[in-house]
Amino acid sequence: MSGTEWVRGALCAGDTRFTPDGATEDSLRAPAVRDLLTVCEACPFRSRCVALVLPRHSRFDGVCGGRLWLDGRVLDTCAGARQSELTEEASPITHGTEAGARAHNRRGETACRWCKEAGRLAQRERRRRKRAADQTNPTHTKEKK
Ligand code: SF4
Ligand SMILES: [Zn+2]
Repeated sequence: MSGTEWVRGALCAGDTRFTPDGATEDSLRAPAVRDLLTVCEACPFRSRCVALVLPRHSRFDGVCGGRLWLDGRVLDTCAGARQSELTEEASPITHGTEAGARAHNRRGETACRWCKEAGRLAQRERRRRKRAADQTNPTHTKEKK
């Protein structure tokens, strides 16, 4: 099968649940959406699917290539998925950093515990700074609305 002919033969063909409109992290994490990953589990076209959609570059939301994506970031991966299915070059990971956590994510992996912790701390620090900024300038949040 050449070109994009395989798309018509894919198990998800024509199923709009794989590309939901207005997706949010919560809506994508709903069991009904995550269950779609079991369809990808049996799909022989996972690499082609990624190569076609380029989910990271297109900042894709939905299910593609055995992964659940939000804004081009992997939220979840189907069982049996292989890293080689993500066509983008794997660059070395600096573990224990927030960038490392993102790199794991791009590879469709669960971050190692050092990167996970670094990501968590960085997020906490951002929230703390935002709260501090809001307290210094209480009108700031209102103005933005
Ligand atoms: S990997 Fe999943 S989304 Fe991609 S073609 Fe197969 S079933 Fe569809
Ligand atoms: Zn790591």
